[in-house]
Amino acid sequence: MKKYYPIKRGFLKKTVAYVKAVDDVSLYVNEGETFGLVGESGCGKSTLGKSLLRAIEPSGGSIRFRDRHDELVDVMDLDYKGLRDIRRNMQMVFQDPYSSLNPRMTVLNIIGEPLICNKIARGEELRERVKYLMEVVGLNSRHLERYPHAFSGGQRQRIGIARALATNPKFLVCDEAVSALDVSIQAQIINLFQDLQNEFNLSYLFISHDLGVIQHISDRVGVMYVGKMVEMASTEELFANPKHPYTEALLSAKPIPNPRLKKERIILRGEVANPANPPSGCYFHPRCPYAQEICKQQAPEFKEISSGHHVACHLANELELKGAVGI
Ligand code: SF4
Ligand code: MG
Repeated sequence: MKKYYPIKRGFLKKTVAYVKAVDDVSLYVNEGETFGLVGESGCGKSTLGKSLLRAIEPSGGSIRFRDRHDELVDVMDLDYKGLRDIRRNMQMVFQDPYSSLNPRMTVLNIIGEPLICNKIARGEELRERVKYLMEVVGLNSRHLERYPHAFSGGQRQRIGIARALATNPKFLVCDEAVSALDVSIQAQIINLFQDLQNEFNLSYLFISHDLGVIQHISDRVGVMYVGKMVEMASTEELFANPKHPYTEALLSAKPIPNPRLKKERIILRGEVANPANPPSGCYFHPRCPYAQEICKQQAPEFKEISSGHHVACHLANELELKGAVGI
């Protein structure tokens, strides 16, 4: 999967370069599984999530989705109507429960909108379905005529989740879906996501910059840096046995539950690379404490170094990196 944005210059708006927001990233999400995508802001996580649903148009690649009739559909081949149908199966939950809900619509209309748009239900049937969805996400179904401002942040996120579930999807892209919430509310919403997953056999692509959240919810994790996937492994393996220096640095910055366990935080030199003008070779080399000559010259391949553990680093097999402390 790729998403390149052209940089245009001059009177003729000639394309002079491309910003490689998502650069040849491959991943799969199994049925009933949570794939956590982590990385600093601007690394392409959201772009990747939206591209998977073609909410923004990818520049290339393929997106295969097993639909409810167990057929493998190439989402990139779909026309407008096909895309509308497949979107019933693939939905998105956004970061900000404050701005993603229309303040002038009642909860009934917000949650019911996808049902009306897809001609799934209306009238009394719609009300009943919305009430059911509200109960599923832990809201009081008597409040269906209320407006978003009458709800707390956590409740608004529940409304957003109910809306995403309205069409009975199989796959949700959750983009920083708990990041705007207080920690205690975060935990409740994460638990809700897990309960819903068990109940409806949902698959999630869970995007977050917060490693604690990712560790808690994910079965497998992918780490992105400047539009590329640099490491991918099961959650356990990635946290205990990271093989990419960037992952090690991210883990070293993760707060630990027990403050008596000491750890050294790795402070990275310099800034995140500019995706419009990335460094040569390995994009991470100007900041990497282990960089060698080859790192400046050659981009490392994304390779499987042990079962299910993929890394893009020339020294992946040589470095002894530190995992997360206290897990
Ligand atoms: Fe560091 Fe080199 Fe590995 Fe890149 S390839 S992460 S610069 S050691
Ligand atoms: Mg983002």
